[in-house]
Amino acid sequence: MMDLSGKRALVFGVASEDSLAWSIATSLAQNGAKVTLAYQKRFRSRVTPLVQGKPWIEATLECDVTVEDEVKQFFAKTTGKYDMLVHAIAFAPASALEKNILHTNAEDFAATMNVSAYSLVRLVSNALPHLGRGASVITLTYLGGVKHVPGYRVMGTAKAALEQLVRELAATVGPAGVRVNAISAGPVKTLAASGVPGFDKILAWMESTSPLRRNITAQDVANAALYLLSDLSSNVTGQTLYVDAGYSIVGVPPNLDRLFGEGPGA
Ligand code: NAP
Repeated sequence: MMDLSGKRALVFGVASEDSLAWSIATSLAQNGAKVTLAYQKRFRSRVTPLVQGKPWIEATLECDVTVEDEVKQFFAKTTGKYDMLVHAIAFAPASALEKNILHTNAEDFAATMNVSAYSLVRLVSNALPHLGRGASVITLTYLGGVKHVPGYRVMGTAKAALEQLVRELAATVGPAGVRVNAISAGPVKTLAASGVPGFDKILAWMESTSPLRRNITAQDVANAALYLLSDLSSNVTGQTLYVDAGYSIVGVPPNLDRLFGEGPGA
């Protein structure tokens, strides 16, 4: 446990109770923080029951991060200073996820980049006047931003952009005392993840080849978020922290003998 009492967080990206953003929000609350949730209008019916009877929720506000006016209105409705901002948002049109990159049109490419990468810039620039010195911003990325992951398609390019934006933003807002970091999470079953073709096979592969031989949980992501959002990481900025049971360090998987017969083994 850590003491986050008196701290206030803005959390973008709750679509359901499986959302990584929801795990982060509840963990912040368990450690004493108050949370303002931003969600997309079409998920009002899912989010409303989630927040009922939760005194740690200060406000629940609609916000489509691709619409500048909605983001401006969102911040106009907030009061006082915030200590933490969570960006847990990604989207690619199904038409872009279904086909290989050679068939991704400019419109789908732009939509993916706008929601999944540029939205971090839009949120940080609008949030800055509302963030206190020492505030921390985190976003969520995936290995597909630095390596090829079949089925991740155009989203990999958006995550690569997002990770560079973390460095760019960290350098830009650092002098204002604001930190920006990313968590690169291993696969966890959520609404967004279910749009990635072959997701169940990716989970099985992770479990059999990651150094810790297991999948991660949403709580693992929330625990890393607590570190990056709190003063425990007060001199950490511009970084991508992998929470993936070590999978990202694997060059050659350990179970080649099972795949191909005799091999170097574990
Ligand atoms: P999720 O529950 O589906 O959350 C994704 C969120 O992004 C949803 O709330 C979604 O709302 C929101 N979003 C999309 N377009 C938006 C827009 N224009 N304005 C506002 N919100 C918008 O899935 P999740 O897995 O928790 O994803 C959260 C983040 O973690 C994403 O960045 C994802 O890439 C990242 N991540 C996930 C995994 C994983 O395996 N689950 C691994 C690594 C990284 P709509 O559904 O309405 O579009």
